[in-house]
Formats: sequence, structure tokens, C-alpha cells
Amino acid sequence: MDCPHCNESGVSAWSKFMAGTAVPAKCKLCGMPSSVSGGILGTMGAVIHFIFIGSAIASFYYWNWWPLLFSFVVYVLLELCMIKWVPLKALSEEQVVSSRKSFYIFIAVFVLVVIFVGLTDG
Ligand SMILES: [Zn+2]
Repeated sequence: MDCPHCNESGVSAWSKFMAGTAVPAKCKLCGMPSSVSGGILGTMGAVIHFIFIGSAIASFYYWNWWPLLFSFVVYVLLELCMIKWVPLKALSEEQVVSSRKSFYIFIAVFVLVVIFVGLTDG
């Protein structure tokens, strides 16, 4: 994967996969952060939140984990598509901090729902 800062292939596919979420891809050569294009990341985020909220509601409705598990699988598949087709974009440190914040909120909500479903199940 080509680094948008130094134009060398210093970013691994795995880093790019992780970069779709909270931690940006760090170039092995220049150490600068990068991620997939913000617009696409925003659209992806909206789609993922929509799927996630839908699956959380379904989890409460059916009282089991499968919808949540399904949303996670969809999320991973979207990430994989992104790695394949979306180029990396240079990031600033501020962008890294703000995307990290929204990721933590997402994880916190996810964990809370999982715990709640787990506690009330059976
Ligand atoms: Zn680089």
C-alpha cells in the first residue's frame, strides 16, 4: 500500500485494514499517519452505525447475539472492500485524535449493549 506522505510502499494491508477504524496506518518509512479518504470513511461510518443500531434493536427484539454478530461481519466485509478499492489519504494528528474519539464511543456503546444483552439473557 502506497504511503500518501512519501509515496513509498511503507503501509501494510493489515495497517490499512486497521486504519479504517481508529488507529491510522503508520508508514514504516516516514512514520506519518494515513487513512482512507475522509468522505468515504464518513459514509462508511454512517452505514456502519445504521447497521449497528438496527442490529442492536434486533438483538433486543429477538433477545440474542446473532444480529450483533452479523453487524460485526458486515463491518469487517466493508473494511475489506475499502482496503481493496479505496486509496490511502494523508492524515494530520488532529484528524487522528477526532476519529479515535468517535471510535471509542462506538466501541463503548457496542460493549454496553453486549453486556446488557448478556446480563438479561437467561
Ligand atoms: Zn511514508
